[in-house]
Amino acid sequence: MRRLWRSVLDGLIPYDAGLPLETLARELGRSDLVRLSANENPLGPSPRAVAAVEREAARIHLYPDGGSSALREALGRSHGIAPNQIVVGNGADELIALIAMAAFEPGDEVVVPTPSFEPYEISARLAGARVVASPLVGYDADLDDVLRRVSDRTKAVMLCSPHNPATTIIRRGPLLAFLDALGSDSPLVVLDQAYIDFCDDSDHADGIRLLERYPRLVVLRTFSKIAGLAGLRVGYAIANAETIDRFNRVRAPYNVNRLGQVAALAALEDHAHTEKTKQLVLEERAYLSAELTKRGYAFPPSHANFFLVAVPDAPSLRTHLMRSGILVRDGAGIGFPGHLRFSVGLRETNEKLLSLL
Ligand code: PMP
Repeated sequence: MRRLWRSVLDGLIPYDAGLPLETLARELGRSDLVRLSANENPLGPSPRAVAAVEREAARIHLYPDGGSSALREALGRSHGIAPNQIVVGNGADELIALIAMAAFEPGDEVVVPTPSFEPYEISARLAGARVVASPLVGYDADLDDVLRRVSDRTKAVMLCSPHNPATTIIRRGPLLAFLDALGSDSPLVVLDQAYIDFCDDSDHADGIRLLERYPRLVVLRTFSKIAGLAGLRVGYAIANAETIDRFNRVRAPYNVNRLGQVAALAALEDHAHTEKTKQLVLEERAYLSAELTKRGYAFPPSHANFFLVAVPDAPSLRTHLMRSGILVRDGAGIGFPGHLRFSVGLRETNEKLLSLL
């Protein structure tokens, strides 16, 4: 018999993003259903991004700019780096896949603090690499343990700060000590900072500012969270120009669509929306934090736009919340059984969530 499929696929389960929001709302008969299970922006997209999409709509018969040049130039200006240090992807998700495609081969090892954002492991396994798990200690990545697991075969270390789903951060001191210890022949260190805009702790490092000193660092960012463009799929990686050149060799020619590019460009210039989102999330996060603590819940202090909270019976609580119109994530599916993960919503939603809890 002809063997059609790669054997690595036998052990992989398709990513389960759950039913589409609209389908679920229909099935539950709840038009007021609010999704707090995907860490989306409670304020919605930047109005300037919406206007940009409307303006661009009549041009969708034309292929997009294959290199997302205008967006990379704007990002370069905004971050104080060269546009050739940036590659834009169809969501940060695509960049995780590109890293694996460009760098990982069978026999390579990829060290991942575990649990973590699932695509790190999936993309490594797909590339034939072996995932070396470094268990979190409580809710924190243990960089000493990660370092001990780095070997000559290690191609990359996948760090996430603020962490999904644990909401914790890797502090500047330990991060720099870790990067220094890896030395000049370091593996790639991927620092996923999808949630950095919600972190107001001065002890958290902006990965982009570390690139000059650590040339093997790859920083990931996204427009899905702070800019509210999750539905358009735009993320970017920042690294040194040689690394970006490698990613461009494996990237599809028109990987980021026209609407995504113009919306991201408009969102980047919409500082008012960014600030409003940040302020809302920080205020509501403080409110939820205080109220959850008052009610006796245990959870790590959140540096992101969501919480990971220990609860007595997560599956039934999740169902109860869903039937009442709030979707949350059962931690069992993301490495934290006995927990619920839920995003920070608008005050009205947060109050409802608290009353249901
Ligand atoms: N990294 C982390 C840690 C995330 O939580 C997410 C989104 N859930 C992503 C990357 C992917 O973001 P995007 O929507 O840009 O693909």
